[in-house]
Amino acid sequence: MEIVAHGLWTAAGAITASRATPVRIRTTWAVWWGVFPDVLAFGPSMIAGVALLLFRGREAISAGAPHVHLGLSLYPAAHSLVVFALAFAAVTLVARRVMWEMLGWLLHILIDIPTHSYSYYATRFLWPVSDVGVNGIAWWTPWFWGTTYAALALVYLALWRKGWLKRPEVEGVRAGAGNAP
Ligand SMILES: [Zn+2]
Repeated sequence: MEIVAHGLWTAAGAITASRATPVRIRTTWAVWWGVFPDVLAFGPSMIAGVALLLFRGREAISAGAPHVHLGLSLYPAAHSLVVFALAFAAVTLVARRVMWEMLGWLLHILIDIPTHSYSYYATRFLWPVSDVGVNGIAWWTPWFWGTTYAALALVYLALWRKGWLKRPEVEGVRAGAGNAP
């Protein structure tokens, strides 16, 4: 899936979890983790491309965005359930609390598994243990992409009707103001 839809799905999930369960999830941080795999996978080459464009001019990147090698396969690493599980466990141990916002990263991987095909970045979700992947429906297939945004529109309409799109802090301030003498 593309990065905007990832962000919207993560925000919807974080808002729903915060409202419907006792767990409080900071939506902004959840969205950051929800787009993190693609930022990690494509960010370095995009930054290098912008830097080349600024300092060397347009012809320097005429052949496409440069490849950046950091000694690590960033795309499969960022989209691996194995890497996620290790990172989640490490952060939980260090922070001594469950970083619920990091589940945005998990959601990203789970969404990418069926929405990529063998012809384009099939998600190797068990990397580096296995290269197994799923030949899913490529997210840019027009009917599928349209259906994704129609589904997102319905989800956000439902959230709006429940009043869950209002910031809880704002409601708290209003409730507090009502009690003030
Ligand atoms: Zn992705």
